[in-house]
Amino acid sequence: MIIVKTPEEIELMRESALIVSKTLGMLAAEVKPGISTLQLDKLAETFIRDHGAIPGFLGLYDFPNTLCMSPNAQIVHGIPNDKPLVEGDIISIDCGALKNDFYGDHAYTFEVGEIDPETKKMLNVTKESLYIGIREFKAGNRVGDVGYAIQKHTEDHGYGVVRELVGHGLGRKMHEDPEMPNYGKRGRGKKFVEGMVVAIEPMTNLGTKRIKQLKDGWTILTADGKPSAHFEHDVALVNGKPELLSTFKYIYDALGITSTEEDEFRQ
Ligand code: MG
Ligand code: MG
Repeated sequence: MIIVKTPEEIELMRESALIVSKTLGMLAAEVKPGISTLQLDKLAETFIRDHGAIPGFLGLYDFPNTLCMSPNAQIVHGIPNDKPLVEGDIISIDCGALKNDFYGDHAYTFEVGEIDPETKKMLNVTKESLYIGIREFKAGNRVGDVGYAIQKHTEDHGYGVVRELVGHGLGRKMHEDPEMPNYGKRGRGKKFVEGMVVAIEPMTNLGTKRIKQLKDGWTILTADGKPSAHFEHDVALVNGKPELLSTFKYIYDALGITSTEEDEFRQ
């Protein structure tokens, strides 16, 4: 059952989305060779609590940390550890926070120093596919329209679209209806309605779409060991159009990047 939000609830969700956005922005300045994912996790936990929120993943389904930290061939749900990041790594950081009983859920794949051009291109295409998907989250469209658009852009570049993990409705629960796959058929699935809030989150593999899971019961990684990227925004359907609640602005500020990519999703 899709739980639509009132305009007041969407404003509360914007607060939660801003906390996770600012958390990733804070981390953007810290991601560099030598720092461990566990150190980054502790920084994030303190930051989230200092902003009057609760880490959204810590304890959720018994996940042990604040952040999901998935380097290189890890796709999602990696567990932070004390191994330092090294030059050339990529690190997908997924961050959840709960404030005013509503969740924010936001992810970005960071470059650690200089990375190889092939991987860099995959990061760009994955982020492009995120916005291409968000554009389809509008009145009259259905879940399959978003999935189709993301899948087409990704596969046109020869990359693998992960099937087993999907985006989702977001609200008082981290995972609400509907599931939002990053693949699909035009015109299929549940219809979008005013006041919906979803997390759209393409997970793209440089090679095969197939995955495997580590024995830790959490970490999902590519079956062929090639790198994978993950970008996630929280989006509300307002006035029939997609409105971004989360923002990469704080990350871009930290990295000195100028971007207009989010402008079309502001009302
Ligand atoms: Mg997430
Ligand atoms: Mg999510």
